[in-house]
Amino acid sequence: MKKYNFNAGPSILPREVIENTAKQLLDFNGSGLSLMEISHRAKDFQPVMDEAMALIKELLNVPEGYAVIFLGGGASLQFHQVPYNFLVKKAAFLNTGTWANNALKQAKFFGEALEIASSKEANYTYIPKDWNIPADCDYFHITTNNTIYGTEMRKDPDVKVPLIGDMSSDIFSRPVDVAKYDCIYGGAQKNLAMAGVTFIIVKEDKLGKTGREIPTMLDYRTHIEKGSMFNTPPVVPIYSALETLRWIKRNGGVEAMDKLAHQRADLLYGEIDRNKLFRGTVAEEDRSLMNICFVMNDEYKELEKPFFEFATEHGMVGIKGHRSVGGFRASCYNAMSVEGVQALINCMKEFEAKH
Ligand SMILES: *Cc1c(COP(=O)(O)O)cnc(C)c1O
Repeated sequence: MKKYNFNAGPSILPREVIENTAKQLLDFNGSGLSLMEISHRAKDFQPVMDEAMALIKELLNVPEGYAVIFLGGGASLQFHQVPYNFLVKKAAFLNTGTWANNALKQAKFFGEALEIASSKEANYTYIPKDWNIPADCDYFHITTNNTIYGTEMRKDPDVKVPLIGDMSSDIFSRPVDVAKYDCIYGGAQKNLAMAGVTFIIVKEDKLGKTGREIPTMLDYRTHIEKGSMFNTPPVVPIYSALETLRWIKRNGGVEAMDKLAHQRADLLYGEIDRNKLFRGTVAEEDRSLMNICFVMNDEYKELEKPFFEFATEHGMVGIKGHRSVGGFRASCYNAMSVEGVQALINCMKEFEAKH
């Protein structure tokens, strides 16, 4: 039976990306060696790094003056590294979920971290809209897509202080106005690659302004200067990212990804709203196109486990909701086909007909 991977992360990747990466694992560029065994300084690997960086710039239309970096450590390391490099006195945070809150907490090691608005009291079911960011903040940090709670800011906000965004789970799903940001970062394992690499897009002339000594490995300038090869980069994850970036380009770029994301989400939210068994969990205007959360309506609560089993029997993988929301979460990243979403909808309809 065909499986549809709705996992939140690590998550679905295009089949071609997996196959092409697998080939290079056996024989990298006809060298007779595996991609796992070669030096990152081998002449054949440099073009991989160069092309991956260039494609990120091309696909997101990154303006001059920004550098792309690949590092290990995950988005979670960026919760430290960002303030290390940008926070002088205080920064503002929009608390829209677990990850946003983690970023805020870690920034407190470096200075004042202001929570300027939060939806915690409502279990993060909406994105706060009324903020007042003090003009003397070094930056304003947002999490553009809240992977766990299923809310998303699909428009890059206009603010008067530098903007920094955790885009771990919606990068490359829409055009981004990079010029609004001083730094964009994310773990690759949601929408870009296998786990093990983090991408950072950073405005170069904003670095080195904190007056703080930064350990070499944590200073973005080190990695810009060394082309992300200061130390051994995770070559296999970077290669898989390159394959995904090529796939996005072949398939029409981020504009086409955005269209598909809307198509998938319209279908699935449409069914959630129509089907008597289910309801969405977040404010309609903040619904994520990437992580679609829904629960059983109260009168059908006891059908939660039976629906999970029914959907699993029909090939749906990874639709169990995060423990802090419950119910279901269908993550619909770039590689999720409309057919996959349709298969889930068919399950929902069939299950409704039986009850
Ligand atoms: C998954 C996720 C993280 C954590 O990423 P790691 O690479 O595991 O550290 C941070 N922010 C968001 C929005 C995420 O979805």
